[in-house]
Amino acid sequence: MQYIDIHGHINFPEYDKDREEVIKRAQDAGVGIITVGTDITTSKSAIELAEKHENMWAIVGIHPTEIKAPENRASGFSQEDVFQELRRLALHPKVVAIGECGLDYFHCKSSDIPAQVEAFEKHIAIANEAGKPLMLHVRSGKSGANAYADALAIIKESAKVPFDFHFFAGSKDDMEAIFAAGGTVSFTGVLTFTKDYDALIKAAPLEKIMTETDCPFVSPVPHRGKRNEPAYVIEVVKAIARIRGEDEEKVREILLQNARRFFSI
Ligand SMILES: [Zn+2]
Repeated sequence: MQYIDIHGHINFPEYDKDREEVIKRAQDAGVGIITVGTDITTSKSAIELAEKHENMWAIVGIHPTEIKAPENRASGFSQEDVFQELRRLALHPKVVAIGECGLDYFHCKSSDIPAQVEAFEKHIAIANEAGKPLMLHVRSGKSGANAYADALAIIKESAKVPFDFHFFAGSKDDMEAIFAAGGTVSFTGVLTFTKDYDALIKAAPLEKIMTETDCPFVSPVPHRGKRNEPAYVIEVVKAIARIRGEDEEKVREILLQNARRFFSI
């Protein structure tokens, strides 16, 4: 394993026709895969994939936008049952983190926020119990409400495990507050087609960042407009080296070690 995609969703239906080929392309390219659940069903399918393959692991949790989703409510699970099941899944040896969980002020109504906070705190408790890190999904609101500051306050209050802000899109101040609290941030293929993140990539200590695709979303250059997949995380590593003006091989090795340390893999 030379690279790692720490956050992707090859458990999603987008890969139903050729999932094994996608996995093989990643393995042939030396890319390890961490598949993330967004509800109980996809958390279970992430575990099944990890059980079947080498250099694959799973993350289990309920995405903040799924907390009040009708499909969760219609599944017959009460909120209590969902977290009971999550607590059980968290103990699986191939589960390396809990999430993606957190606060999404962008896609939700403000009336949904109390339920998100409650669910976030439940995820943190499960992570603390399991002794596994947190994979955070945090998005600020259109009105400027800072979800990063709110999520970090909750983390500081209750988390006893490492935490990563996936698909980080906050400010430099947000990033520095995360680092000061002992957290990390991860970046996707957006680095390859916008300069919006260059200042963050240059300012961050290399030891504090990780790489992901968030596939099937946000394909990097030169795969724009097509479905994303874990093998393309190599483009993210290349972009980080280019933006920082550092040796690609050195950057690759440090980014890999960051993930190995964070997830204990
Ligand atoms: Zn995701």
